[in-house]
Amino acid sequence: MGENDPEQLQELVRELEFRSTVTAAMLGTLDLEQVLYVILSGITSGDGLGFNRAFLFLDDEAGRALRVTMAVGPGSAEEARRIWERIDRDRLTLPDILPRYELYKRDETAHRLTRKLASFQLPLSGLEAIAAIDQRLYIETQAPLVRVLARCLLTRSPFATNAMTLVHEIDGPAGDVLEFRDVAIVPLSVTDHLIGAILADNIYNGQPVDSEDLRRLHALGNLAALAIDRARLHAKTVRMAEIDGLTGVYNRRHYERELKRALETARRTGQQLSIVVFDLDHFKGFNDRYGHLVGDELLKGVGRLIQANVRQSDMVARYGGEEFVLLLADTGLEAAVQVAEKLRQIVSREPLAGGKVRGLTLSAGVAMVRGEESAESLFVRADRALYAAKDQGRDRVVGEL
Ligand code: GH3
Ligand code: MG
Ligand code: MG
Repeated sequence: MGENDPEQLQELVRELEFRSTVTAAMLGTLDLEQVLYVILSGITSGDGLGFNRAFLFLDDEAGRALRVTMAVGPGSAEEARRIWERIDRDRLTLPDILPRYELYKRDETAHRLTRKLASFQLPLSGLEAIAAIDQRLYIETQAPLVRVLARCLLTRSPFATNAMTLVHEIDGPAGDVLEFRDVAIVPLSVTDHLIGAILADNIYNGQPVDSEDLRRLHALGNLAALAIDRARLHAKTVRMAEIDGLTGVYNRRHYERELKRALETARRTGQQLSIVVFDLDHFKGFNDRYGHLVGDELLKGVGRLIQANVRQSDMVARYGGEEFVLLLADTGLEAAVQVAEKLRQIVSREPLAGGKVRGLTLSAGVAMVRGEESAESLFVRADRALYAAKDQGRDRVVGEL
């Protein structure tokens, strides 16, 4: 063994320690945002890969485009110096930084860089066109970020440059650009499927990226891709368990859970809370006349119409067969009746099932939470109002009795 061996060995131990710290933190959570935070912290911390800034680009899961999902790093050289001084003073290491995710989430300034790049988009179907615009790419001193990234994704290989400045026009005053210098980029893929890329740079200290830096970033990228895939799969499973398979609105189980949560919030804040229960009129007749497949189309159409005509903060769910519920936070009885009435009119006007069916109507019962009332009692009162609406001839909304 040569005399450099103890040093090399130390270096190796350091790298293994870093990898196991990051791996444990990445696998310690199923929250995608937290996984990304771990990855980017590992890239920027001094006892990690030590880059000045890190940017994570991810596909939109439909595989259409890459966007900047998270970016970390100081906003200026001055800020970089302050941060580094503090890290030195407080002797902050990666194991100190990783558990600070909750702090990071609440820290507005930490998200500036991500927001700055909100307009960035790289269409995955257009990689070749974007990358191929100019063959002089590698001898230029300045090139658009989007082009270099496209090139890197096409070749599926890590890329580094210390000579070229990458630029991206950002939202804001015209001509405002974000620059990237001393850059390393690695593509992220899972079983050959491209899911994103990581870019890291040393714009503030001008430290050139060497082949060792690029190799380490590449190794971290491979781990990161797996952790991202795992968190996404988990999120998808959770989402699927909350969604009604036919209509795509929430299912009853999720509604019940959300209602309990909303009741607690209303109790705590003193805000009003109302629910609407919808039941389609004579739906059996529609099924009999047009067949169950068309009946299914009607249900999908009604779910879509309700969803499209309420606020983002309102929750729509399919309660059962041809019954839907609407959870209206911070809404009193009168306003809830108005919402239900608006939806009743929209549904009765709209041709459904590809124009095959018109004149489908619904009845609705509305109730507002009273005092310390339970979820069950609230629902029973709304349901009773619904029955009254049916009794009174259907195609109408009845507020709690
Ligand atoms: P009312 O005005 O009294 O509500 O009459 P209705 O026919 O809607 O009431 P009822 O509860 O008797 O029938 C509901 C029907 O909804 C029964 C069933 O044929 C239909 N239905 C329930 N779930 C589905 C579904 O998933 N797909 C289809 N196509 N029909 C469904
Ligand atoms: Mg029914
Ligand atoms: Mg019905």
